[in-house]
Amino acid sequence: MKLTFLARSENEVFARNVAAAFALPLNPTLSELSDVKTAVSEAVTNCIVHAYPDGTDAEHWVTLECSTEDNRLHIVVTDSGKGIEDIARALTPFYTSCPGEERSGMGFTIMQTFMNEFHVTSEPGHGTRVEMTKCFGGTAEAYAR
Ligand code: ATP
Ligand code: MG
Repeated sequence: MKLTFLARSENEVFARNVAAAFALPLNPTLSELSDVKTAVSEAVTNCIVHAYPDGTDAEHWVTLECSTEDNRLHIVVTDSGKGIEDIARALTPFYTSCPGEERSGMGFTIMQTFMNEFHVTSEPGHGTRVEMTKCFGGTAEAYAR
C-alpha cells in the first residue's frame, strides 16, 4: 500500500496507525506492533519537523509505503524536502540539528533499535528515504533467507 499525506503534525498518529493496521494480518504481538508504530512515528515526525523548514505546507508531502513478504513487514517513508547533508552524522545517537527545540537526537537510533533492518538515503535538496523491515514471530536471524 502507498499513502501520501501532508507533512502536518496531526498526520503522525494517522500514519503510524495505518502501518499497524496493515501489519495485523501477520499476527504481530502487541510488543512487535508497538515497535512498528514507534519507528513509523519517528520517521514520519522527522519528515514533518526537518524536511520542510520553509513556507506553506500546501505541497509538503510525506509518503508511507508498506508491503509484506512472508513474516516480514517492509516500510518506506519518503519526503521531497531539503535532504540530509551528512547521513553518518545524522545517525549518530544524540545528534540533532535542532538542539534548542527539545529534540533528543534519538529518532534514527530508535528506528534502528526497534526494527530488524534499517537504511536511510538522502539527496540534499531533493528529499530523504527511510527503509525499514520488521520480522514478526522471531529474530531476524531465525528468518533470514
Ligand atoms: P528526535 O528524533 O530525538 O526528536 P531529531 O529528529 O533531531 O531528534 P533524529 O530523528 O535522529 O533526531 O534525526 C537526526 C537529524 O537528522 C535531525 O536533527 C535532522 O537534522 C536530520 N533529519 C532526520 N530526518 C530528516 C528528514 N526527513 N529531512 C531532513 N533532515 C532530517
Ligand atoms: Mg527525529
